[in-house]
Amino acid sequence: MIRRLKKSVVLAAIKEFLKSKKLTEDIQVIPKDDAIIIKPREGKEFKENLEQKKELFFECSHRGFMTLYEEELRTHKLIHYI
Ligand SMILES: [Zn+2]
Repeated sequence: MIRRLKKSVVLAAIKEFLKSKKLTEDIQVIPKDDAIIIKPREGKEFKENLEQKKELFFECSHRGFMTLYEEELRTHKLIHYI
């Protein structure tokens, strides 16, 4: 049996995370069907903001891959050594 997180719980966690990183003004979180869409707010120069908040992201120099999670970057980097 697959345990599913309640979307409201996940949403709250994401919003809490964005708040702690002071990103709530830059990024909107939209619940849609079974997914949660996270995207920059309309009209926001997200790339500039991203630049300012670079320390938040882990980046792979190969193809500009970016992630919030160090673990994900490590996994991503493995594909370069296959
Ligand atoms: Zn890469």
